[in-house]
Amino acid sequence: MIIQKNKNISHYLTLRNNVVAELFFEAKSREDLIAAKKYSLDNRLDIFILGGGSNLAVLKSRMDGLVVKNSYVDLKVIDGNEKEVKMSVSSGFPISLLIARSIQNGWSGFEYHQGLPGTVGGAVYMNSKWTKPLTYFGDNLVYAFLIDSKGREKKVGKSYFEFDYDHSILQKTKEILLEGVFILKKDSKEEIMKRAKFAFDYRRKTQPYGIASSGCFFKNYQGRSAGYMIDKVGLKGFSVGNYFVSPIHANFIINKGDGKREDLIKLIGIIKNKVKEKFGVTLEEEVIII
Ligand SMILES: Cc1cc2nc3c(=O)[nH]c(=O)nc-3n(C[C@H](O)[C@H](O)[C@H](O)COP(=O)(O)OP(=O)(O)OC[C@H]3O[C@@H](n4cnc5c(N)ncnc54)[C@H](O)[C@@H]3O)c2cc1C
Repeated sequence: MIIQKNKNISHYLTLRNNVVAELFFEAKSREDLIAAKKYSLDNRLDIFILGGGSNLAVLKSRMDGLVVKNSYVDLKVIDGNEKEVKMSVSSGFPISLLIARSIQNGWSGFEYHQGLPGTVGGAVYMNSKWTKPLTYFGDNLVYAFLIDSKGREKKVGKSYFEFDYDHSILQKTKEILLEGVFILKKDSKEEIMKRAKFAFDYRRKTQPYGIASSGCFFKNYQGRSAGYMIDKVGLKGFSVGNYFVSPIHANFIINKGDGKREDLIKLIGIIKNKVKEKFGVTLEEEVIII
């Protein structure tokens, strides 16, 4: 294992937070992921699996322990008939590539996630969603292989994950996803492409694109949109240092470049206070705060 020390991992995070990992390892296979877990157990280190880094806001300047960038990319069709296809997809597989492959092959089930950044591991961990119509990443999962807390491999069925809105059991157990096995329906490439394009165009119209963010920062509250509330307290476009609230979608925090952690912490505080004052709502982060 090649482990790097004191590695700046900012460019692995879509919000580009400036942070150093005490120890850093890039896993390129399932064996690498298993070895990394074993290394963390043998050396009593915390381990953090980094997928696409697109649902994180790192407020620390340093992450202690072992940060593992998951670059395990593999997809195997394991069964199928004229109606459906069963495939094993590795946890480091990029969502963008998964959708491109799905469109190419006429596999339907993931297309509404067109434009979702990150990896299969992060999308299963978060049970990432699309709301038009409501679809969750975990919907098509049948079973999966995990590494448990003792470093052992484990096969679990879909119900194990307790999928819900923004929720999977992995958030509690901190087990590592190796591969997910999914069943997708066969459909015409044109129809799948149409649905993927609809989702992608909708994102383009309503969200900032191609800049440093981690997507929707706060959870909606009892059906009330966090973005709406942030907009109504007048914070669209508001900035602290190089971090600012997107003028396009108020639930996106953007890093103009080289944003300081103190400024991000201050901006989060201002947003929460103003929303609490006007709406009596305590906003909770949707992104994972580290
Ligand atoms: C522009 C933009 C648009 C977005 N749109 C959406 C959207 O429409 N819907 C939505 O739900 N989210 C959205 N997000 C948020 C984010 O992209 C998703 O939550 C995504 O699925 C996270 O995947 P990731 O690989 O980047 O995970 P990361 O951010 O790298 O990690 C998230 C969590 O998953 C854990 N994890 C990652 N891989 C594994 C693994 N193999 N095993 C166990 N745990 C693992 C990490 O340790 C971490 O705790 C958006 C983000 C951005 C920047």
